[in-house]
Parts: sequence; structure tokens; C-alpha cells
Amino acid sequence: MVWGKKTMKCARCGAEIDERDAYELGGERVCEDCYFDSMMPQHPCDPFAQSAADKFSRIFGVISPEELLDDQKRVYELLKKRGKASQEELIRELGMRPGEITQIMIVLRRLKLAKARKIGDTVYYVPWD
Ligand SMILES: [Zn+2]
Repeated sequence: MVWGKKTMKCARCGAEIDERDAYELGGERVCEDCYFDSMMPQHPCDPFAQSAADKFSRIFGVISPEELLDDQKRVYELLKKRGKASQEELIRELGMRPGEITQIMIVLRRLKLAKARKIGDTVYYVPWD
């Protein structure tokens, strides 16, 4: 095996990614966006999603709401102010990528600050309480 930069295609969306950036997802190798998109909001309660959240809390350490990173705080405060927002609204209003919002939501969910809720056919993010 030759080590070095090697690209592959994401099994879900077909995006070209560096092999070292690939994630295992149900036996497939996928890009970061697909990996985290699969965590939220379709399976917010499954154990796999929980383990991803644990991974993030290890990366971010123990955080209280006052200590959120700026981007996390922006999402959290928008949800508190508005009551709910779809991923599309967050992308548009905060200028973030879907993968970023997913990562932030995993952290906010883990901290019990926000969660996903399906209203009609649309998934919204809402404050935890
Ligand atoms: Zn992908």
C-alpha cells in the first residue's frame, strides 16, 4: 500500500474526498458531510448518533451554555429567539454549511440545549425545552 494523498468517492453523495477524511457509515465510506448529516435529524436517538455526540463532547470538552463556541452560540440564540428554524433557514441566515450546522446541532443536542423536531414534512431545530 502506498501512503500519501489518495482520493475516493463518497458512497452517499459521490463527492471526491481525501481517503484519510473518509468516515465509516454502515460499512460504507462516506464524506464528513454525509456522515454527520446521517446523524441528524433522521436518527437523533440511535446509539450510533449518541456515540458521535460523545466523540464531539470529548473534542470540545465539557461545555456549559455560557462557554459555547461563537458559531454554536449563534445557532442556539437564533433558536431561542425564533422558537424554531429549519436547517435551510440556519444555512441562509447564519451563512453556514449543512455539515457545520449538523456538527453544532450534535453538540447542542448533547448539551440538551436544542433538538430536532419534525413539523409536517419539515425538520426544524428547536430549543430543548
Ligand atoms: Zn458525501
